[in-house]
Amino acid sequence: MRSIKAAVAAVALAAFITGTGAVTVYADVNPRAELTAINKELKAKTAEETAAKADSEAKSAEMASFGEEINSYTIHSEYLQETLDIVNAKLGIMETERPSAFRKLFLSITNGYTVLDQYTEYVALSSDLQSFKKINLLDMGDEDAEKIVEGLQARKSAIENELIQIAEQKIVLQSGIDARMEELTALDSRLTELGVEIQLLSGEKTKKEAEVKKAESFIKPAAGRLSSPFGYRIHPVTGARSMHTGIDLANSSGTAILASRGGIVERVGYEGSYGRIVIINHGGGLTSLYAHLSSYSVKVGQRVERGQRIGSMGSSGRATGPHLHFEIRVNGTAVNPYKYIGN
Ligand SMILES: [Zn+2]
Repeated sequence: MRSIKAAVAAVALAAFITGTGAVTVYADVNPRAELTAINKELKAKTAEETAAKADSEAKSAEMASFGEEINSYTIHSEYLQETLDIVNAKLGIMETERPSAFRKLFLSITNGYTVLDQYTEYVALSSDLQSFKKINLLDMGDEDAEKIVEGLQARKSAIENELIQIAEQKIVLQSGIDARMEELTALDSRLTELGVEIQLLSGEKTKKEAEVKKAESFIKPAAGRLSSPFGYRIHPVTGARSMHTGIDLANSSGTAILASRGGIVERVGYEGSYGRIVIINHGGGLTSLYAHLSSYSVKVGQRVERGQRIGSMGSSGRATGPHLHFEIRVNGTAVNPYKYIGN
C-alpha cells in the first residue's frame, strides 16, 4: 500500500527533477486555480502592452506634428526676416534722403497730411525694394515722408514682435517634443519589460497547462481485462438490454483498486447491486465510482492521490465474478470513462 509519506517523497523527487519548487502535485494546491491566475496576469500584461503601444504611437504622432509646426514656423521666420531686411533698407534710404521725416516723427503729425496715393503707399510698405527706390522721395511733402517712415517703423516692430512670438512658440513646441521623447523612452523600456514578462508568463502557462492536464487526468483504476464496455448491452445477469453506466475490468479477487484521480473520498459503503462502493469527488462536478469491492482502504473525507489504493477487487453486490465496475460521473451523469482515461 502506498502511504502519504511515499507520495510526498515522490512529489519532492518530482520537484527536484524539474528544478522548480512550485510543483503542485498536492491535492490541496489546485493547478487550475494557478493557471487561471496566470491567464489573468497574462491578460492584464497583454492589455498593458497594447495600451503602451497605442500610447507610444500617439506620442510619436504628436512629436511629428510638433516637428512639422516648428518647420513651418522656421519657414515663416525666414520670410519675416527677409521682409525685415527690406524694411530696414527702406528706412535706411528714408534716413539718408529725408532725414527731417525721422526727426519730426516724434512730433504731432495729425495735421496737414496730404493723402499718399495708394500705389505709393503700397510700394512704400510692401516688400518690393526696387519699386520703392523709384519713388521720388525728394519731391514728396514732409507729411507724406513722415507717414512712410511711421508706416515702416510700425511694420518693423510688428515683424520683430512676430519673430519673438515665433521664437517663443518654437521653444514651447521643442519642449513638447522633448517631454514626449522622454515619455517614449520610458514607454519603450516598459514595453521591453512587458515583452520579457509576457514571454515568461507564456512559458509558465504552457507548463501549468501540462500540470493541469496531468492533475485532471484519470488513470485506469485497476489492472484487468475489459470485460464489459460503457453503453447499451445485454445484462450478464438479467439478460435484458440495458444501459451499462461504466466499464468492467475483470481480474482476480484482491487486485488493487486505485484512485483514478486525486480527490476526496465522498462515500464508502454498500449500495445494493453495486455491492461495496467507494465514490471519490474530484471537484468541478466530477466524481468516480468503484463497485463490487471486497474491501476498502479509505474512509469518507479522506484525501487520496491519483494511483493511491482505495480497496480490493471483489464480487460484492450483483456480479458474476470478481471485477471492478468503474464509473466517471459529470454532475451526477455517468459518461464513458474512456473519454477521460484514454484507450
Ligand atoms: Zn459494470
